[in-house]
Amino acid sequence: MKFGKTPLFCTSCRKELPEEGPVLLLEDNHARYFCTEACAEKFYTPIVKRYKDFQLRLQSKEQDSLLDEMLGDPSVIDALLYSPNEVWMVSNLADECVYHFISELGEKDGKKISGVCASLVKKFKPSFVITLLVTKKIDFVNEYRCGVKLDAANFQGSSSKSSVEQYDGQLDYLSEEIVITLEKIKSELLAIHLENRNEFDVPYEHFTKYDHYLQLTLDAPDEIRAFNDLDTPLWCYIKSGRNLDDEQAFFYLVICLNQGVEQQTGKSIVIPVFSFPTIDSKIYNFFRTGKKLFGPSQN
Ligand SMILES: [Zn+2]
Repeated sequence: MKFGKTPLFCTSCRKELPEEGPVLLLEDNHARYFCTEACAEKFYTPIVKRYKDFQLRLQSKEQDSLLDEMLGDPSVIDALLYSPNEVWMVSNLADECVYHFISELGEKDGKKISGVCASLVKKFKPSFVITLLVTKKIDFVNEYRCGVKLDAANFQGSSSKSSVEQYDGQLDYLSEEIVITLEKIKSELLAIHLENRNEFDVPYEHFTKYDHYLQLTLDAPDEIRAFNDLDTPLWCYIKSGRNLDDEQAFFYLVICLNQGVEQQTGKSIVIPVFSFPTIDSKIYNFFRTGKKLFGPSQN
């Protein structure tokens, strides 16, 4: 008996991938394979979170509504993803690269509107969108002009559909539908969070200190609640914790899109969309008003 081929496992959930059949491969220079879109989303959540936290500190509610409005327009999405005016590449020690696409999106009330798309890239096309933003503030766009400036012409001119050449069992990008759904939900949750947040709550610049709680909360939540305030039903994972430096008790909340149940394990497949720490019982209670899906029977 021979062992045969070395098996290939999903980078995120470590499940063995089928030898034939679709797998997701989203980066040019890193061989990271995923079994599902949910697994890819989960794996890249820390980088998405970092970008969102940065955005939270700079963004106003007005800009969120601008994004909401414009995301409904397919030509805007097309411009953001497939006809950038500028492309910047930032990388880290591990040679992981994020690309910042900057696009001009016309004018509104006499002010120029720009769009920024931070994304992973495969074959010069966005393969995994980390964040999208639409703004009238030039200072805000300038924050994303960093790293190495690339020739934008290489990234222009064709939509996602035409980048599917010969199908070799690999999908090179997340479906546009899921990108738009996730972006809409993210910006809606961001607006809800800004609206309900108290001044005394954990400052945005401290959010990264709680990053490790994201995985802990998903793996071992205290409770899971349905969150039905948006058009799309979501699940809210909640875990309590205590800060090591000042003994302050806090809650960590992760709001997820539920993608059904994995047949083999019976576990739920969820995509984390938005997460934050809080010391404020008001916002904590706001997110846990829905039906309890998991957790102790008494409060
Ligand atoms: Zn997986």
